Amino acid sequence: MNGIPKVVVIGAGVVGSLIARELTKYNCSVTLIEKEEDVGWGVTKANSAIVHGGYDDPVDSVRGRFAAKGNKMYTKLATELGFDLKRIGSYVLAFEDEELPHLDELMEKAEGNGVEGCEIHNRDEIIKRNPNINESVKAGFWCPSAGITEPWMVAITAVENAVLNGMAFRPGEQVVDIITGENETGKTVKVVKTDKEEYPCDIVINAAGLYADKIAQMAGAHCPVLHPRKGEYILLDKKLGPIVTNVLFPVPTKQSKGVLVLPTVDGGILLGPTARDMDIDQKEDTSTSSEGLNEVRRKTSSMVNGLDFSQTVKTFAGLRPEDPQKDFVIGKTNINGFINAAAMRSPGLTAAPAIAEYLVESVIIDEMGVLIERRTDFNPILDPYPVLPEDDPQVWEEMVQEDERYGKVVCVCNKITEAQIVEAIHRGARTIDGVKFRTRASFGRCQGGFCLARIVEILARELDKPLNEIKYRTGNTKLLSGRVRT
Ligand SMILES: Cc1cc2nc3c(=O)[nH]c(=O)nc-3n(C[C@H](O)[C@H](O)[C@H](O)COP(=O)(O)OP(=O)(O)OC[C@H]3O[C@@H](n4cnc5c(N)ncnc54)[C@H](O)[C@@H]3O)c2cc1C
Repeated sequence: MNGIPKVVVIGAGVVGSLIARELTKYNCSVTLIEKEEDVGWGVTKANSAIVHGGYDDPVDSVRGRFAAKGNKMYTKLATELGFDLKRIGSYVLAFEDEELPHLDELMEKAEGNGVEGCEIHNRDEIIKRNPNINESVKAGFWCPSAGITEPWMVAITAVENAVLNGMAFRPGEQVVDIITGENETGKTVKVVKTDKEEYPCDIVINAAGLYADKIAQMAGAHCPVLHPRKGEYILLDKKLGPIVTNVLFPVPTKQSKGVLVLPTVDGGILLGPTARDMDIDQKEDTSTSSEGLNEVRRKTSSMVNGLDFSQTVKTFAGLRPEDPQKDFVIGKTNINGFINAAAMRSPGLTAAPAIAEYLVESVIIDEMGVLIERRTDFNPILDPYPVLPEDDPQVWEEMVQEDERYGKVVCVCNKITEAQIVEAIHRGARTIDGVKFRTRASFGRCQGGFCLARIVEILARELDKPLNEIKYRTGNTKLLSGRVRT
């Protein structure tokens, strides 16, 4: 390796974004390549958004090694990057006598994984905190450190902060090949090729989510074949927000953590996910099915009373990248310089900060002996995205005095103003989804029915593009085809 090591990270999901940011703490050159036009549009976009306690992963698994540590790291991360994190705590609920021993097993696992503060609560305590839980509940495993967040905002803010610290971000570029060469220790990464550019490199980090197996193949590196496992969800309106206080899990099955009921950080209620194994070629199939959604309705209504499905705002599905071992695949490979951060099923969001730290400190520096030093000028802080102080009209008024666009509400459902949308565009949003995920505009009850046209206008104005060039997301997703009248 000559000069400053050149590291290419492939995939700007939550895993790649946090790894890339971690690398910017050191004196190396970092490039993050993402095939989509924005950050966090892969697995990171559609999941349960829980920062899990980290109690339930097998103690000897890779997941178990990183989940609890990642959970602890989230408080500092959220403070530095300004994304929402609410440690609302979680319950695993037993509704049948035969499920009760499972709660004791969870206590043991929690101890093994070093998760503190967990307790078994009786029925009265659980119902006191969540009065709408089905009265037949017998007991629950309580984990106070579990939290909820917006996974895409973790990734977006990590990338923004990394860019401020010198990282090169290349959205809209698909990695198509990885060139290796021979040196005295064997095959070594040399160049990452995208559909647009070539990037000479010393280290490649494969954080390509569902496609990490394909990326590894390009380099001739080992990585298990990943197949998608679909999880379908229902999002209910904020009106139902107060119906539960904590993240509510049933006792898990062998397949998954089960179908959950949980609040979202912006006050809605999320129900799901199912767990259905899909074919290897269905990595883009995020369709929902009546069968899946009915399963969500049936299982969640047996856990919580009063779930009014007429208040459904949205249904959606996410795809877990599953490998046969049901564990993360992290670390060096048979190809020098090629590192996997693959098979990031749940709790990948939770574990991501700990994995990022491990890959840099233990793998790159200790195991590979790469000479990089900590920078003294790394700035961990990112200005938070502006929020409206709805409870404090005085402060809101002051914001309007400074910038009248804080007085122009564009998204009525979520009360998002023009000023916030403009800020999101100036910070990197190029599409309607880019604005939506950064601000929550069009994320509410009407799902953009009332505000979409206005958002398109603002995007066109700020990006200096014709209206019919504005896209919903990546690919041919333009909303308007041309003028009807001139
Ligand atoms: C249904 C479901 C529920 C879950 N719930 C939770 C939870 O509550 N808590 C939790 O901790 N975890 C949860 N997870 C797991 C968590 O969502 C994932 O572990 C995490 O989002 C994976 O992030 P990633 O960065 O590895 O993948 P991704 O977000 O998919 O990022 C990979 C990126 O690589 C890009 N890419 C792929 N190929 C290429 C290429 N050739 N060139 C350039 N870029 C490329 C993709 O576009 C993508 O943006 C859940 C997952 C699912 C599906």
